[in-house]
Amino acid sequence: MFEQFDLDSELLGGINNAGYTKPTSIQSLVLPAAMAGKDVLASAPTGTGKTAAFILPVAQHLLDYPRTKPGFPRVLILSPTRELALQIHEQSENLTALTKIKSGVITGGVNYGSHKEILNETTDILIATPGRLLEYIENEQFDAREIEILVLDEADRMLDMGFAETINRIIAEARWRKQTMLFSATLEGAGVVKFSKEILNDPIFLES
Ligand code: AMP
Repeated sequence: MFEQFDLDSELLGGINNAGYTKPTSIQSLVLPAAMAGKDVLASAPTGTGKTAAFILPVAQHLLDYPRTKPGFPRVLILSPTRELALQIHEQSENLTALTKIKSGVITGGVNYGSHKEILNETTDILIATPGRLLEYIENEQFDAREIEILVLDEADRMLDMGFAETINRIIAEARWRKQTMLFSATLEGAGVVKFSKEILNDPIFLES
């Protein structure tokens, strides 16, 4: 039952509207750890419900600590591909539909002007592919120092796609964050575990 977690009623309503009746195993593991503010290293392939596992704690944080001043998005979710970013965005919008939380997506292959309306205080949760986001950081259109929670989704795929340097530069900019969560289909390759050690602070390791 999702009621076992300390989620606001608007989020429970969103879960209900999405048709989720009980948490998946990765959701049962990640929610308590993430809601306690811990860094998380989770092995969770696609299809396990990993998206809601990070969206719900992130949304609860935003409800617990409302924005106090105009600025930039407060949560950053990095995704390897445009398709995955759009899927995360859709789930985020659905689960937070009964709240004031807004999500926005930034990916390559979209004209630059259309992202202007996203990179400001009207967006709480920013979902982005690394390459285009780094361009906005370098052009000073986005300031990642306001990021409070950073999520790396499908980190193994991002590393396989050669994004390590780009991600490291974004992470370095997001240095004031309070929490980092790393999701990977597998933790078997040496790359992800080594990478996680550089960016996570005393993480809880969770496997679905
Ligand atoms: P994901 O692994 O996050 O890509 O999710 C896979 C699919 O499972 C998506 O279509 C989700 O909407 C769905 N899903 C996520 N959590 C649950 C749940 N607790 N109960 C039923 N379906 C879910």
